[in-house]
Amino acid sequence: MIKFWKDPAPIKRHVINSSQLPEQYLSVIEKQTAEFKEGVDVISVDEIPDTNTIPLDAPRWLKIQDLTCVFVDMKNSTQLSAITHDRSTAKAYQFFTGTAVRLFDTFEAPYIDVRGDGVFAMFNRNQVYRALAAAVSFKTFAAKVFAPTMKDKTGLDLGAHIGIDQKTVLVRRLGLRRISQRTDRQNEVWAGKPVNMAAKLAAIGEADDLLVSSRFYERITDEHARQTCGCPYGTKKDLWKPVDVSANPIFDFDTAWRLGSCWCQTHGAEFCNTMLNLDRD
Ligand SMILES: [Zn+2]
Repeated sequence: MIKFWKDPAPIKRHVINSSQLPEQYLSVIEKQTAEFKEGVDVISVDEIPDTNTIPLDAPRWLKIQDLTCVFVDMKNSTQLSAITHDRSTAKAYQFFTGTAVRLFDTFEAPYIDVRGDGVFAMFNRNQVYRALAAAVSFKTFAAKVFAPTMKDKTGLDLGAHIGIDQKTVLVRRLGLRRISQRTDRQNEVWAGKPVNMAAKLAAIGEADDLLVSSRFYERITDEHARQTCGCPYGTKKDLWKPVDVSANPIFDFDTAWRLGSCWCQTHGAEFCNTMLNLDRD
């Protein structure tokens, strides 16, 4: 008899037995494996919900279209802990990370979290200019205040890496419910491209670079986001330069865009406010 298809592979059972791992740990893995075989619900929502309403107990994920993630982390932070004293290291992190969280909060980012020594903020699909304004504001702090202050204090060239991406995400809370006042064993999981891509864009940038994906760049078409104010000679120039990332298999887009500048000393505040008014529902 001629076969036109392969026999299906026998279903493999991937198991660990109790002589390989003590029972109490093994039972965790078995329970999770059983849960993996069950289905999950995916529910589409329009906006980032309040964190305490993000599902925790049910195997339910929220799907949110076109979220923007702004990711910032400290350039050359490893030098800091290697060279300076504990107290200086602690103060630098507090200055950098604390400012990022508070600035993004003041820009009303619907979600902010600290990941490792980086900070990320999530914005809804109709908040692209708000996300950009928040990123440029932090960039201005990093370049004009943080870097020179740290140079004076430590002699180190510290700065910020900043990345932005936009795409659909799935979110739920994973971890353990509050156990005797501990809330540290659960956190939101943002599955999908934006957080990873924004972090990786940040990582390839030079100090005080803002790098954005092409799909985010295509959303910010207003001239306030694309062109300089014209200072100092009155000639407006393109703010962004393309960066070919097609050879880098990490990225699922071929072009990133780099912004080298900060808010203009004369027109920055005006541009920031204008930009915040560009978002439409
Ligand atoms: Zn200007």
